[in-house]
Amino acid sequence: MKKSILLVNPWIYDFAAYDFWFKPLGLLYIVSLLRHYGYHVNLIDCLNPCHPLLKEEPKIKWPLKRSSGRGRFPKEAIPKPPQLKGIQRIYSRYGITPGIFHEELHSLKEPDVIFVTSMMTYWYPGVFEVIRILKERFPGVPVALGGNYVTLCPDHAVLSGADFTIPGEGEGIAELLKDLFDDDVFLFPDAGNLDAFPYPAFDLLPYFDQVALLTSKGCPYRCTYCASHLLNRDFTRRDPMKVVDEITFWNRHFGIRHFSFFDDALLVDAEKAAIPMLGEIVRRRLDCEFHCPNGLHLSEITGDLSRLMRAAGFKTIRFGFESSDPVRQIDTGGKVNNDHLKNAVRHLKDAGYKAQEIGIYVLCGLPGQEASEVSETIRYVRECGARPFISEYSPIPNTMLWEASITMSPFDLRGEPLFHNSSLLPCRSEKLSFEMYQELKLMTKNVRFM
Ligand code: SF4
Repeated sequence: MKKSILLVNPWIYDFAAYDFWFKPLGLLYIVSLLRHYGYHVNLIDCLNPCHPLLKEEPKIKWPLKRSSGRGRFPKEAIPKPPQLKGIQRIYSRYGITPGIFHEELHSLKEPDVIFVTSMMTYWYPGVFEVIRILKERFPGVPVALGGNYVTLCPDHAVLSGADFTIPGEGEGIAELLKDLFDDDVFLFPDAGNLDAFPYPAFDLLPYFDQVALLTSKGCPYRCTYCASHLLNRDFTRRDPMKVVDEITFWNRHFGIRHFSFFDDALLVDAEKAAIPMLGEIVRRRLDCEFHCPNGLHLSEITGDLSRLMRAAGFKTIRFGFESSDPVRQIDTGGKVNNDHLKNAVRHLKDAGYKAQEIGIYVLCGLPGQEASEVSETIRYVRECGARPFISEYSPIPNTMLWEASITMSPFDLRGEPLFHNSSLLPCRSEKLSFEMYQELKLMTKNVRFM
């Protein structure tokens, strides 16, 4: 008889969290692969914002899910970890309550192995707590931990209580199944070849309001603050027609209208990928809306691409600009310059986008950065006719800015992943203090759009 596997997407423990079309996409790909090989799978998503039992929880604020698939997570204030005691903000567990998690576990038969995923390095307390509860409920069942946190902080992840850690893109799962169950049939496809995977198992999610899509993995750029190349070995992309087939599948069979792209480089080399994909979406007359919470590349925007984005239904568009300082632009990797922003906004407006719809990310809190650089960037974005969004810098181990971040930070970044949290402004200084940051935030509000 085929073995049974429980997969768990853990809680977020943080000062703030918002569901910007968030889905545990990596985990869902693995679920679909396991199912494909005949494993019996169960999935618990601790971030489920629509669990019916949440309505009976007096302390939980019932989340407002919006129709496009984004909205608040349920949350409950919890004590801060001792390392964060000095931070004057409320710390919360985002997701279902531990009581509901226990009920979910009690409704299941004992699995043969449990897989837990992880995301941000500083969310590890939620991961540890989930593993602790799993071990209590199913003593003796091996627990394997994978995901971004394990890949970026492998030495810290061994403290999680998991029996196995699987860094990387998931290839280690085949070896684990072989060791545990003598399974030499299960084959993990080349992680870069997403067309070789069955569609992610969205049908198993308890709330299926939108689909997250990956048309590519990785990025050809090497920005000094970014972990894309640490999480993905290469830059690889799918056949654009197969992406449209997937969109059509979810739309026709499950009535899904909202899709979010999780790519790091969706528009890069647009002639070969994004343009044929968008043209096909338009040709098939798919009644869908698309959301791009990850920063798109401004340098790729042309008149043709803008018109196609508009015609295909690209609704939420966000671009990575980061800084208007030309020296900073070159020093951090050269993905964009000021003319790219100006030209892109012109093309997007010609295609029908309004200023408030064109979201531009501005990085705040880089090591050694001054508040004046951020305010100047916000001013430039507004002058170009777009909407600035501050994106707080989070130091990530082994990126090119990591050592500089350690040197500049008042926190022990190397010893404690909790201090990677962007909410702390981990590399703040007297040139960019918390108070200055609050003023910069205000600059992005109440903007009159041109
Ligand atoms: S362009 Fe974007 S995804 Fe690529 S390395 Fe730079 S920040 Fe990362």
